[in-house]
Amino acid sequence: MLPEKFQVCEGDLSSELLQEYLKADCLAMDTETMGLIPQRDRLCLVQICDRQGLVTAIRIKKGQTAAPNLQQLLEAKSILKIFHYARFDVAILKYTFGVETTPIFCTKVASKLARTYTQSHGLKSLVQDLQGVELDKKAQNSDWGSVDSLTPEQLAYAANDVLYLIPIKEKLEEMLKREGRWELAQRCFQVIPVLAELDLLLYSNVFEHQS
Ligand code: MN
Repeated sequence: MLPEKFQVCEGDLSSELLQEYLKADCLAMDTETMGLIPQRDRLCLVQICDRQGLVTAIRIKKGQTAAPNLQQLLEAKSILKIFHYARFDVAILKYTFGVETTPIFCTKVASKLARTYTQSHGLKSLVQDLQGVELDKKAQNSDWGSVDSLTPEQLAYAANDVLYLIPIKEKLEEMLKREGRWELAQRCFQVIPVLAELDLLLYSNVFEHQS
């Protein structure tokens, strides 16, 4: 099922949607790609959701290297960008458009710091535990490159990946504050662009003792 307020944009956000999203204090974001290697696997879709549940999926064309409206949103200092495993999304957005996404909240990092009672930190487990909602992840490994003919199932999946991130962020923030780990979480989020940049340069373990 698609959310009530859902739109698809081609190549970039429309200026109307940009103006709407610029009013937000935080936005949930996600990307769909051809795979996990930015240098090989292109960005296909960028999803955005605000507190009101307004969801937009932006289709990215093959070879596209700029999306100025999206860039303005990603670099807007007044808007917290919430991702699940931000390290990957921030890397592919930097690789594709040269954008420096900031500020960042990562629900996966927050979950690992706060939910020490479990080892399940995937989005599905997080949404199940904190929102009591069963996410359908069947379309996760599908062909996101066929942008002219994304199926309703793919679009619903893409929308659902951003729909619960803001309420989850609120709950994780509450837990982190309660457990005295909020400051540490903030500092972890600030490191994410550095990790993303190291990933793009194919460094794998500069912080490890082993070479
Ligand atoms: Mn996703």
